[in-house]
Amino acid sequence: MNMITNHMPTAELQALDAAHHMHPFTAQGELAEKGARVITGAKGSWLRDSEGNDILDGMAGLWCVNIGYGREELAEVAARQIRELPYYNTFFQTTHVPAIALAAKLAELAPGDLNHVFFAGSGSEANDTNIRLVRTYWDMKGKPDKKVIISRHNAYHGSSVGSGSLGGMSYMHAQGGMPIPDIHHIGQPHWYAEGGNMTPEDFGLMRAQELETAIKELGENRVAAFIAEPIQGAGGVIIPPASYWPEIQRICDKYEILLIADEVICGFGRTGNWFGSETLNIRPDVMTIAKGLSSGYVPIGGSIVTDEVAKVIGSGEFNHGYTYSGHPVAAAIALENLRILEEEKIVDTVRTETAPYLKAKWESLADHPLVGEAVISGMMGSIALSPDKANRAAFASPAGTVGYICRERSFANNLIMRHVNDRMVISPPLVISKADIDTLITRARIALDECLEQLKAQDLFKAA
Ligand SMILES: *Cc1c(COP(=O)(O)O)cnc(C)c1O
Repeated sequence: MNMITNHMPTAELQALDAAHHMHPFTAQGELAEKGARVITGAKGSWLRDSEGNDILDGMAGLWCVNIGYGREELAEVAARQIRELPYYNTFFQTTHVPAIALAAKLAELAPGDLNHVFFAGSGSEANDTNIRLVRTYWDMKGKPDKKVIISRHNAYHGSSVGSGSLGGMSYMHAQGGMPIPDIHHIGQPHWYAEGGNMTPEDFGLMRAQELETAIKELGENRVAAFIAEPIQGAGGVIIPPASYWPEIQRICDKYEILLIADEVICGFGRTGNWFGSETLNIRPDVMTIAKGLSSGYVPIGGSIVTDEVAKVIGSGEFNHGYTYSGHPVAAAIALENLRILEEEKIVDTVRTETAPYLKAKWESLADHPLVGEAVISGMMGSIALSPDKANRAAFASPAGTVGYICRERSFANNLIMRHVNDRMVISPPLVISKADIDTLITRARIALDECLEQLKAQDLFKAA
């Protein structure tokens, strides 16, 4: 076969892709007919496709390219590390400088006494680690009955068998024999969709108290941990009512169950602080990290645990690890990414300048006739599409029909927004400029206008 390059015609690349490449979370047959969008390069907050379009990436890839695309420093560090030590494992009482340096840096950045890091290759792997880690923790403390992990409906914790079981996506559970035993799901703090006539505060409290009810029903002696994203990402950027997290924290403390904060999206500046746990005022025992840890330049994830958890796990042998745990090239790149985030004060700039700028403009989209609410925390935001905003009504069409149309209008206007059912979400690179924020908002509004026009033409602008 000839070499496959960026210079081949788009249709040929699409045909080869359809013939050989299986995509995640995709109906392959449908994509084969349509042809995948081919991305050929990127710089800052902008993507370039094979047709020469410049596309504003309102999603930072998949919530991960926090420092933006095209940072030379990361390429340099990768080349240097590959020359010096491209691989060595951290099994068998061995270590290397990139893993040491990254673990030490993470211990410094993470709040409280979260001082110990177990590396993985992704967020899914890290959450699989967490399942075994929290259960082993209780085994080692002489409480082997504590096995149940409580999570939430519409949570996202990854796509492996373990992490997908932790997640609360029923369409994922329906495939491949999930969830695994001893995972229990409670309701999510999604006031807009599920809060009915309650105030957000009352609803947040009620949803948090479902945790206490579940612990009592399952038995305090059986519950190992509670896992949650500080702000749900893939579930649609659901920002919990202010009453929610303090009550969750109280319950975790009272019943001595470990709190796992899945920081895979919220971590590394996304909410305007280094970790979502700081923004939401949570004291986790375990944090899941990935995505922004390397700004997506290479796969790496991990679990950061407290002194107490590390001490207990360290009292025996933890029979767990990945060939690429603490991979030296990935660790070196992650460390350089953290250096850039820190030295260029990117997290501070988000908190004090660009996020407030984006927030004002994003929230102003709520005046659009198609928008039921527009919410945002730091650099992650969402809008609910609704045919009847006064009643927070859902559409008559199957969930996701309208969101998909809006996403297509957004793509057609060279803005990447994603839809989760009929919610549109954004999560741009943390380095997005004010000028690019203006472009994002302008294009989002055009996409909403065009979507509304299409809904009216197809008689889809009506409530269930
Ligand atoms: C993306 C994500 C994961 C899974 O990470 P992968 O690297 O895709 O395995 C886990 N938790 C959250 C909150 C995520 O957003």
